[in-house]
Amino acid sequence: MQWTVRLETRTSAGEVTTTELATISRPGVVSTLAEVGLVLAETKTLLAKLQASTLCGQVAEYAAHHRICPQCGVLQPLKDRRTRRLQTLFGTVEVEAPRFKVCRCRQSAPLAEAATISPVCALLTARCTPELERVQAELGARSSFRDGARILEALLPVAPANHESLRARTHAVALQLEAADRQAAAEVTAVRGEPAKAVAADDHRPVVMLDGAYIRAVPGHPVRNFEAICGKVEREGHPTRRFALVRSVAEQPHALLRAALLDQGWREGDAVTAISDGDPALPALVRSATGGPVESILDWFHLSMRVQHVEQVMGGLCALEPPPLVPLDQARIDVERLRHLLWNGHHDKACEALGRIVSWAKEASVLNEPAMGAGAGRLVARCTELRAYIETNKGALIDYGQRCRAGKPISTSRAEGTVNQLVSARMNKRQQMRWSPRGAHRVLQVRAAVLDGRFGHPAIQLAA
Ligand SMILES: [Zn+2]
Repeated sequence: MQWTVRLETRTSAGEVTTTELATISRPGVVSTLAEVGLVLAETKTLLAKLQASTLCGQVAEYAAHHRICPQCGVLQPLKDRRTRRLQTLFGTVEVEAPRFKVCRCRQSAPLAEAATISPVCALLTARCTPELERVQAELGARSSFRDGARILEALLPVAPANHESLRARTHAVALQLEAADRQAAAEVTAVRGEPAKAVAADDHRPVVMLDGAYIRAVPGHPVRNFEAICGKVEREGHPTRRFALVRSVAEQPHALLRAALLDQGWREGDAVTAISDGDPALPALVRSATGGPVESILDWFHLSMRVQHVEQVMGGLCALEPPPLVPLDQARIDVERLRHLLWNGHHDKACEALGRIVSWAKEASVLNEPAMGAGAGRLVARCTELRAYIETNKGALIDYGQRCRAGKPISTSRAEGTVNQLVSARMNKRQQMRWSPRGAHRVLQVRAAVLDGRFGHPAIQLAA
């Protein structure tokens, strides 16, 4: 059996041409399943030819349209024929890019234009179609550049499909995304000074959850690991917006967060809630992004972890065999109350309790047997740590119970999910993966956009 694929082209002037694209031959009576239907190699060739035919036809029509002088309507003389190459998802296509002499009627204009025009060169503003760039960037953000290139190469007649090209496209798209964020952030700054319409009701206040993640640096980098800040902005009635940045290389770190907030309907002057792990740099970033009021909340999860450390050491002391001679009861009660006190916003009382535990433990370690002494020493260390953490973050401690009962977030645990999605899954998956801060920052921009579903599908601007 034989099939012939013909492409019939009808131009807008009504002219019809037929091009033969491919002939497919198969035994009429097949002997194996593999002979049934099209195979990938044929399909890739067919797609490449279909793309080349339609694209060249379209570009030729475009050139013909622009050959007509816009002022007097006569055909401008052809100067020479050149070619340009355009990379697409369906192969690299060489298109004709004729140059025309500018019509005489326009040459007499006082400001003489360039003597020739090349409409096709003006149309092809990049070496690849936006769609190819977007798909390459998306693959580069989702998988390693090498794997992404292999996937593309396996399925499509795209060329070149190497990892360098994937990396370059991912970086290029990241720069576009970042520039768009900076612009969005700057536009609103320009109208600053207008009175804020109405301060967002507390219930609809955007919540920024921030967390840090460490990425292994490329050899030769001054440090072994560098930090990426990841987070998300949540607001009722809006889809979650993720953002990520490597502070040392982000041009305007606050602009990225600001753009994320604006995307969530936040407006200048509206209050924002920031939940983070106690690193003062994180709420500071939110403050510089909003330039306004920020309610900072210490993440309950990180606080709770430190309480747990105290509880574990105390648990170890209680389990000692034989039981220690010094009575443990009072200290145990204090340790048991810690979580409850902090949960309900009584951090002063929690600090008092910690003080009592520490002085008890110091006494106990002097009076008692060596096994007890080691445990008591650890208890002092853990309690001192927790107390310092509470003191440092005093301004960000709240009545977690009340906030939780109101159904509001109290933890960045969801931001940690973001860290996993953004950083771990792409960057720490394999131990040998090492990054430059710039490379990581750019991949994170695209990855956040891809995961949010923000990655647009721009229409291919080819039709004249
Ligand atoms: Zn003219």
